[in-house]
Amino acid sequence: MFFVDSHCHLKFSRFVDAFNAEVGFENKYGVEAIVKRAINANVRCMLNIGTELTDMSYLQEFAETYETVFHTVGVHALEAAKHYELYSLDEISKIIRDNYSHPKVVGIGEIGLDYHYEKESRKQQDTLFNLQLDLAKECGLPVSIHSREAIDDTISVLKNHPDINGVIHCFSGEKHFAEQALDLGFFISISGVITYKKATELQDTLKYIPRDRLLIETDSPFLAPVPFRGKINEPSFVVYVAQKIAELLGIPVEDVAKFSSKNFFNLFSGKTFPIYK
Ligand SMILES: [Zn+2]
Repeated sequence: MFFVDSHCHLKFSRFVDAFNAEVGFENKYGVEAIVKRAINANVRCMLNIGTELTDMSYLQEFAETYETVFHTVGVHALEAAKHYELYSLDEISKIIRDNYSHPKVVGIGEIGLDYHYEKESRKQQDTLFNLQLDLAKECGLPVSIHSREAIDDTISVLKNHPDINGVIHCFSGEKHFAEQALDLGFFISISGVITYKKATELQDTLKYIPRDRLLIETDSPFLAPVPFRGKINEPSFVVYVAQKIAELLGIPVEDVAKFSSKNFFNLFSGKTFPIYK
């Protein structure tokens, strides 16, 4: 049995490292330690998600250093306005094109719409979302979707790109969102939010998601699951997400590990995962 963390951001461990070094703490959250703890917890594959174009070199460095770390390339909705100022659309396309052929790039992401924090940049978010879906089609890779308070627009954009497959990351729990995403062939990824007491809608909707479409993730360093809520999240904690899903579905955690890992490799199968064959 092993687990896959289908969505994490290892870059933030660097900031914690720098902070620790500054204040003289032990280097407890270094990437090396994070990857080691993940392997010890049976998390044998981590998808390190890109959020901006300046991520490329760090993503490659981590993927080339750690056998269990793969990555995606893309511009996050909340980075749209900044990228619009810094680059032309042609430049954004070129940087993504220059990077997606790296052997450990398995998807485009995270991309999507966020009206919670940035309603005012929705036009730019929409343009970059569509552009990156076209690029995903061109390179034949699945996408990792971020959607916050933008369900209807997310679904209508995805409907205009019928050849794209992917995952709704950190699914928020609305049943009508799950139904429409599933109809489009998408996978749904559950984060540590499922362990929170107030996440009753998500806990309920879980039962309607077919097991062959379910992924698990941490979205670390954010959203640490219970019993680590409020702490810095890391890929090894994906086990707690799997345990909560197992508890809610009344099945062994081994089953959750098995089907969620299998689904991950099915979705992100455009590139080979040599160590998992
Ligand atoms: Zn993310």
